[in-house]
Amino acid sequence: MAKRDYYEVLGVARNASEADIKKAYRRLAMKFHPDRNADDATAEQKFKEAKEAYEVLADTRKRAAYDQFGHAGVDPAAGGFGAGSGASFSDIFEDVFGDVFGGARRGGGGAQRAHRGADLRYELDLDLEEAVKGSTVKIRVPTMLRCEKCDGSGAKPGTSPTPCTTCGGNGQVRMQQGFFSVQQTCPRCQGRGSIVANPCGTCQGRGRVRDQKTLSVKIPAGVDNGDRIRLANEGEAGESGGPPGDLYVQIRVRPHTIFARHGSDLVAEVPISIVTAAVGGELEIPTLDGRVKLKVPAETQSGKTFRLRGKGVRSVHDTRVGDLLCTVVVETPVNLNVRQRELLQEFQQALEQGDHQHNPKAHSWLDGVKKFFENMSR
Ligand SMILES: [Zn+2]
Ligand SMILES: [Zn+2]
Repeated sequence: MAKRDYYEVLGVARNASEADIKKAYRRLAMKFHPDRNADDATAEQKFKEAKEAYEVLADTRKRAAYDQFGHAGVDPAAGGFGAGSGASFSDIFEDVFGDVFGGARRGGGGAQRAHRGADLRYELDLDLEEAVKGSTVKIRVPTMLRCEKCDGSGAKPGTSPTPCTTCGGNGQVRMQQGFFSVQQTCPRCQGRGSIVANPCGTCQGRGRVRDQKTLSVKIPAGVDNGDRIRLANEGEAGESGGPPGDLYVQIRVRPHTIFARHGSDLVAEVPISIVTAAVGGELEIPTLDGRVKLKVPAETQSGKTFRLRGKGVRSVHDTRVGDLLCTVVVETPVNLNVRQRELLQEFQQALEQGDHQHNPKAHSWLDGVKKFFENMSR
């Protein structure tokens, strides 16, 4: 089936702002959310369609690819952006629903939802180079795994859970309170919908066991401190065979000895000698992909920043490749011997004898100081 245009799906114009797109998605998602439309396959389809459209249009880079190439630009199957990544960069769902459904979004469903496994958070420390270039990292996560002995059912092998007779197996019971009929979690099976008469010995009937699992996480190039990668269904296993939660990998980038990162730009402080600063010279600057030469012009002042275009980072949130900003800091020489001192003093005398103004800043500062005291004594 041909996919509908993402802008059409969300009902927004092609030049819609990020806020408009978010608003449109929120409206559709509220309307078609599975929690509100149980057993309505059309609604679920529409919800998924809106979610897909939003995930593309809310991401500047994906949106640009979609605008240029249509579905082929963003469809993983077509090899476009996002191919094989399998993880979204921010938890779009929570981002949009956090304040709408609150923490209650899991409680509303049937028996299964009530026993969905918990989401997990894993903090992953990366070096700047790994974060910029991307990598595949193996992580070990302590978690709850589905019990293999009973395949998550919680029932002793050879037996199986029986449907709860109190709620008829759906985990919820209706109670009449005056005029109102209120749905409640079944008190007998605690919402599981089934009763385990002979519990599995390995998991004591819970259907899951505490263990560790090793995962290979693909880190997309350009992630930064605070970015979060969601691995769907890699969280804790659900109780009694319930669906698993998600795993969030939180990125932390270790401080680097040379570079600091500001969005897509890298910044570095480069010490230079007073001689290079005065007469100019060429510096060798390290970048993440090799050395480059930086020409320092004569009469360069301390604190001057040089921009090396395109030597920064391509962030996951942006298509632009940033720059490397090198701020030169003039270093006062230390450990001078007698001869070196003499040379500098001689040099100072030569400056004072010259016809030119060699330290304009110092001079105008001294003028300012003079005026300041004159005004005070008035
Ligand atoms: Zn078991
Ligand atoms: Zn029940």
